[in-house]
Amino acid sequence: MAKRDYYEILGVSRNASQDELKKAYRKLAMKYHPDRNQDDKKAEEHFKEAKEAYELLADSSKRATYDQFGHAGVEGAGGFGGGAGGFNFNDVFSDIGDLFGDMFGGRRGSGGRSHAQRGADLRYNLELSLGRAIHGTSVEIRIPTLADCEECNGSGARKGSSPITCTTCNGMGQVRMQQGFFTIQQACPTCHGEGKVISNPCKKCHGHGRVQHTKTLSVKIPAGVDEGDRIRLVGEGEAGTQGGGAGDLYVQVSIKEHSIFKREGNHLHCQVPIGFVTAALGGEVEVPTLDGQVNLHVPAETQSGKVLRLRGKGVKSLRNGLTGDLFCQVMVETPINLTTKQKEMLREFDVTLKTKPEHTPQSRSWFANVKKFFESSK
Ligand SMILES: [Zn+2]
Ligand SMILES: [Zn+2]
Repeated sequence: MAKRDYYEILGVSRNASQDELKKAYRKLAMKYHPDRNQDDKKAEEHFKEAKEAYELLADSSKRATYDQFGHAGVEGAGGFGGGAGGFNFNDVFSDIGDLFGDMFGGRRGSGGRSHAQRGADLRYNLELSLGRAIHGTSVEIRIPTLADCEECNGSGARKGSSPITCTTCNGMGQVRMQQGFFTIQQACPTCHGEGKVISNPCKKCHGHGRVQHTKTLSVKIPAGVDEGDRIRLVGEGEAGTQGGGAGDLYVQVSIKEHSIFKREGNHLHCQVPIGFVTAALGGEVEVPTLDGQVNLHVPAETQSGKVLRLRGKGVKSLRNGLTGDLFCQVMVETPINLTTKQKEMLREFDVTLKTKPEHTPQSRSWFANVKKFFESSK
């Protein structure tokens, strides 16, 4: 069974203060405390559910994760799972449900505990260009989902009729059967644990109460989203059954590779080719950013591979509002397709370079190392 929303369990709003959470939890704990409700399984379940919800929401970092990602984000954190804790006959029963499920044609594990079921959560994979992810955008997405049938308002019964109480289980949703020494409760085979049967099913949804439907949603993508981020849209998942509430929709973001920029956190990286004259004498190079061109100052005597930083030209963080930097790695380009004249000039230039080793410090230290290497291996 899908887990209930923690705020819903405590009956507080999503922006409830810690005090309000505590008050709500105290009230529920008093009401459902096992000492006051001896042998009442339902009360015990409510008590544990409230305890789990409060313990998680009282922890502000867990609460933040839960707000963003729902139960999926804090799985295992509460320690209970779906079974609502304690020794519970239904838990044991779900293990042997395979054995009996087929016999009755009943739905496994429904146990008739609650007829309302929350709709499933949905996931939508959204691929964005780097620019749209950085600047934020709004996208229209179309998702196939189950919605309440309009014809019967989700009841599944034909217009003018309504579901009738199941006569097999008298509306309990469960039947008892004798199995050796044990009396075992199982979901009612007639109504599959719903407690009601539809004698005159709705034409449109054939009694399911829900219909397949494609809905279009406009989703606002905040500036700065990154690969792997998820945006939760509360209540935009599948419709629940019998008032069980809709599931949530998770928009999972992935970013297309960019031809120039690589993103690492809030920093951007790129490679910039520069001519060797600019590298030697220094100068300005135009560099693209996601907000237009900027001038990159290349200092004189810049070697190939050097990384120059443009502060504040990276990505504005979604989390702390700080903007990262743009790192430009300059690559000195070797000119090609030279004319005879150009080649001559370079040869003449090369002769002048060789007059002083100070012109080529890297070559000088490299040759010194080579020399050392040969001497030591003699
Ligand atoms: Zn219908
Ligand atoms: Zn029944």
